[in-house]
Amino acid sequence: MSEHLLEIKNLKKTFPLRNGGWFGKKERMCAVDNLSLTIEKGETYGLVGESGCGKSTTGRMIVGLTKADSGSILYEGKDISKMSEREFRPLRKELQMVFQNSLSALNPRLRIGEILEEILQIHGEQDKAKRRERVLEVLEKVGLSEEHYFRFPHELSGGQVQRLGIAGALIIHPKLIVCDEPVSALDVSIQAQILNMLMNLKKELGLSLLFISHDIGVIRFISDRIGVMYLGTLVEETDTERLFANPLHPYTKTLFAAIPDPYIQGGDFQALTGEQPVRTEDFQGCAFYSRCPYAKEICKKQAPEFREVEPGHKAACHCIEK
Ligand code: SF4
Repeated sequence: MSEHLLEIKNLKKTFPLRNGGWFGKKERMCAVDNLSLTIEKGETYGLVGESGCGKSTTGRMIVGLTKADSGSILYEGKDISKMSEREFRPLRKELQMVFQNSLSALNPRLRIGEILEEILQIHGEQDKAKRRERVLEVLEKVGLSEEHYFRFPHELSGGQVQRLGIAGALIIHPKLIVCDEPVSALDVSIQAQILNMLMNLKKELGLSLLFISHDIGVIRFISDRIGVMYLGTLVEETDTERLFANPLHPYTKTLFAAIPDPYIQGGDFQALTGEQPVRTEDFQGCAFYSRCPYAKEICKKQAPEFREVEPGHKAACHCIEK
């Protein structure tokens, strides 16, 4: 049995590109390619990168909303990526997801209490009194009150909606929550409240979190370890302190250069502009080649290995000395 709570190995997910035409070659874009990472019990793993780099697709594959093309997702040693819907159903409550806009996932005609009770009912709790008791307990945990039980989703503020989204995930006692940009649409002061609440809940309930964000400042605040993702794959991974003390990959440095904080080191790097390119299946070389100021001839032809360059610190770049 795996000692990790979650172990992703060589995960791949492609989607069709709409440029084949009637007789042209039908190309596919790699949203996630050869991705491997682990999440330990009680850990917050931060996954950071630009929009469209494959972070959300990874999260959706973990909770069973999207099927992987190949690779494996071992949850407590079992490969959930190959499971049928029926096999996966008992595990669904252990693997929950919180979305950027929780409001869009809520039934606007139901009151908050009814929405949360419905989740419990779907997962087998038929006793109305126990459902209500559990809903009130969870509302309190996420900083809402009995008064919110009778409100409709549209009567909540943005921060309260995200608290409700977290309550919906918590109510069925998950072990791992994938948080996909859960504070991106909120004001900075509300962001801090939600992040602090998540950190406290994680400690109190022994949860593990996969926290997905494009915001390296938010990721730094909440994560124990960080994986930096570019074009569907990890380019750097280490613990939070080490990453900020010694970023190695050129892409990580460009992310740091975009933070208006003089104490965060991006070196001579400039924040990236423009869009990241599309990664097709026949893609060769380093994913960051087209935007990297250090790119050499070898980078165009040969993908750098994602390797340990110092204990507990992995990166994929031909220019990093071991
Ligand atoms: Fe830049 Fe080459 Fe390193 Fe890729 S392998 S990040 S292109 S230097």
